[in-house]
Amino acid sequence: MSIVSSNLGYPRIGENREWKKALESFWAGKVSEQQLLEEMESIRLTHLKKQKDKGIDQIPVGDFTFYDQVLDTAAMFGMVPERFTYTSGPVPLATYFAMARGNDTAVACEMTKWFNTNYHYIVPEYEGKKLALTENKPLAAYREAKEKLNINGKPVLIGPYTFLKLSKGYHKTDIPAFLLQLIPLYAQVLQELEQEGVEWVQMDEPILASSIAKEEMKTITEIYKQLNKAAPALNITLQVYFDSIEWYEEVIQLPVQGIGMDFVHGQDRTIELLQSNGFPADKILGVGIIDGRNIWRADLQKKWEIIETILPHVPAERIWLQPSCSLLHVPVTAAVETSLDPTLHAALAFADEKLAEVTTLTKALRNGKTAIADFIQESQHACLQLAHSSARNKTSIQEAARTVNEQQTKRPLPFNERREQQRAIFDLPLLPTTTIGSFPQTTEVRQARQKWRKGEWSAEKYEDFIQQQIKEWIALQEQIGLDVFVHGEFERTDMVEFFGEKMGGFAFTQKAWVQSYGSRCVKPPIIYGDVEFLQPITVKESVYAQSLTDKPVKGMLTGPVTILNWSFVRDDLSKEEVTNQIALALRKEVEALESAGIRMIQVDEPALREGLPLKKTDWDHYLNWAVKAFRIATSSVQNGTQIHTHMCYCEFHDFIDAISALDADVISIETSRSHGELVSSFNDQAYDKGIGLGVYDIHSPRIPAIKEMTDIIKQGLQVLDPGQFWINPDCGLKTRKTDETIASLKNMVAAAKVIREQYSILQEN
Ligand code: GLN
Ligand code: ZN
Repeated sequence: MSIVSSNLGYPRIGENREWKKALESFWAGKVSEQQLLEEMESIRLTHLKKQKDKGIDQIPVGDFTFYDQVLDTAAMFGMVPERFTYTSGPVPLATYFAMARGNDTAVACEMTKWFNTNYHYIVPEYEGKKLALTENKPLAAYREAKEKLNINGKPVLIGPYTFLKLSKGYHKTDIPAFLLQLIPLYAQVLQELEQEGVEWVQMDEPILASSIAKEEMKTITEIYKQLNKAAPALNITLQVYFDSIEWYEEVIQLPVQGIGMDFVHGQDRTIELLQSNGFPADKILGVGIIDGRNIWRADLQKKWEIIETILPHVPAERIWLQPSCSLLHVPVTAAVETSLDPTLHAALAFADEKLAEVTTLTKALRNGKTAIADFIQESQHACLQLAHSSARNKTSIQEAARTVNEQQTKRPLPFNERREQQRAIFDLPLLPTTTIGSFPQTTEVRQARQKWRKGEWSAEKYEDFIQQQIKEWIALQEQIGLDVFVHGEFERTDMVEFFGEKMGGFAFTQKAWVQSYGSRCVKPPIIYGDVEFLQPITVKESVYAQSLTDKPVKGMLTGPVTILNWSFVRDDLSKEEVTNQIALALRKEVEALESAGIRMIQVDEPALREGLPLKKTDWDHYLNWAVKAFRIATSSVQNGTQIHTHMCYCEFHDFIDAISALDADVISIETSRSHGELVSSFNDQAYDKGIGLGVYDIHSPRIPAIKEMTDIIKQGLQVLDPGQFWINPDCGLKTRKTDETIASLKNMVAAAKVIREQYSILQEN
C-alpha cells in the first residue's frame, strides 16, 4: 500500500464550455450524432490527460456524462419510463435525451437538486418493470482510459442505496422488489470490472451523510455484503460527501476496502467521530481535504494540521488525499481569469488548481512537510493578502452584521394590526391579482443589453429603452386588469448578478462557469469582501413605473439568503455573518424604495428552502439565521408598507413555521403542480398572512383555461380564507413569450372575477 492522491470527479463542461456547445449544436441539428460522439470523446480524453499530467494517482473514469450521471445510471439499468417506448438493449441517444428534455410525445423526467448543491439531476422513475444491464458504462470508460491514455482509471458509480433513495415511483413496500432487481445488476457491473482487472471502484453514497434512519443501515450492510461477495477481488471505496457520515460506527464496518469522507463540510464532526471511534485497520481512508464546493485556495498549513490530527488514527500508507467531493461543482481553471483584482485572483483555486493542491499535500505526506515548504508559504501569503485587503476589513460593516439586535428584526406592529393599516392604504379587491416580477425578456431586451454592455449604446440610450419597456408593460397590466403591478425586471439578466454588480464586496469572473443542469451553466458571483450598500439599486425603475399608474407597483428585490446561496462565498466568515451583511445592505435599499414612495416591496427568497442542511439536526440553526436575515432586510419599514416575498416550488409540510416566521405580509408560492400536498399542509397547520398560490405553471408555453384556474383557486379556498388569498402565476414570466403571457394573465384575471362574483352572491344570500 502506498500514499495516494485521488480525484472523485472532474467538471465535464470544459474550459470554454466546449461540452455545452457540442450538446447544443447536436440538439439544434447542426452536427451529426457521429460528430457529437467524437467531440465528446475528445473532451473526455483531454480531461483525463489533464488529471494524469497533474500527477493524480487515482483518476476517476465514468464520471463523464452526456447530460447527468444519475440519468446515466438509470439508462444503464434500462430504467426508462414506459412513455418513452423503449424496449431493450443500450438506450439510444435520442431516448436518453428525451428522458432529460422531453419530446413531442412524452414529458421529460423530473429534475431536482443534487443534495444541497445547485446541480440538478434527472430523477429516475421506477415503474416496477424488469430492469436489465443494458451496457456496462463504467467498464467502457475504464477500457477507453486504459487503451487511449494508459491510465488505470477508477470507475465511479452512483451507489445503489443513493440511487434507490433518489429514484421515485415506488412505495416503501416496493423497496425489497426494487433492490432485488438492482443488486444483481450492480453485482454484474462489478464482476465484469473485476474480470477486466480493475483494482478500485468508487461507489458514491452521499445519502449516508443525510439524516437516514438507523434501520436503513441494515439494508445498506446487506447490499454491500452481496456486492463484496459478487466481486471479492475488486476493491470498493465507498464515497460519502457534503457532510459527516450519519451512522459512522456502522458505516466503517461495511464490507468495503475503503471509505472516503468529507473533511471540509462537517469537518469537526468527522474528526470527532474519527477520534472517538477510530478507523478499521484493514481499510483505506479517503481524506476529502480540499473543498470541492468552493473556489478558494487552501491554506496548506491549515490543511496539513488537519492531516496531522488524522495520522494518529490512520497511518499515512492507508490515506488517499482527495477533494471533498466531485469537482463538478467548481469552475475549471482560474488561470484564464485575466480581469480580477490580483489579490483576489491569487487566492482562488478552481478544479485544476485544487488538483495541484491535492498532489502537493500528497507530496508532504510522502516526504514530510518540509518537502512542500515553499508551497505552504505561497498559499499562506495569498490567503493572508486577501485577509488583509481593504475589501475584507470594513470594520463598521462587520461590526454591524455581528451586532444585529432584536429591534432590527421586528416590524413595529404585529401582522394583524399592520394588516388594518395596509387595507386602508391599498384598497384592494377580494382575491387581488398580481405577478411575480419579471415579464418576458424578449430578444429585443437581450440585444439592447448586449449593445449597452459592448458600448454600442450609451447608458442613457439603454435606460430610455428600459423605460420604454416598463411603460409598455404598465399599459398592458392596466389592459389586462391586474390589481398590483410590477415594473417587469427588464434591466436584469440574473436576479443575483444584478444586485451583486451594484453592491460592494462582489466580484465577477469571465469564465467561471459551473453546470447547473444538462447543458445549462451558471456563473455565480464571488462574494469576496464585506458587502456594502453603495447606491440605490432598483429605485429608479420602480419609481418610474409607479409614476405611470395609480395601481400599486411592487418594488422587487432578491433576498439575502438567495444572494448567498447562489454565489461563491468567502469562507473566513460564517454564512450567517455574510448573510447579515447582505441583509443590512438590502435594508437600505428597502428604505430607499419606501422613502421614494414605493409601499409594496417584494423580497424574493427562492433559494431559502434549497439551502437547508442535509442533516435535520442542523435545520433549526440554519432556519434561524436565514429567517433572521430576511427580517433584517425587511423590518424597518412603516406598518402600512406591505412586504411581499416569493418562493419557488417547495414542500411545505415541514416548512410552514419558517415561512410564517419571515413575517412577510404576503407570500407567493409556486404550487400549480402540487396542489394536493399544499391543501393537506394548510389543513394541518394554520397560516394567517397573505398568501398567493401559483394558479398556473409558467414553465410551460400552454395558455391555461379560466376553468382550470378557478378549480385551483377553489381548492386553495378550501383551506385558506378568501381575505388572505392572492392570485398570481407560480413564478416570474421572463422565459415566456409576450403573447402567451398576455393571454394567460387575461384568463387569470377572468378566473379571479368568476370567484369574486361567486363570493358576492354567497354574501348577499
Ligand atoms: N422576481 C423574480 C422573477 O419574477 C423571481 C424569480 C424566481 O423566483 N426565481 O423573475
Ligand atoms: Zn419563483
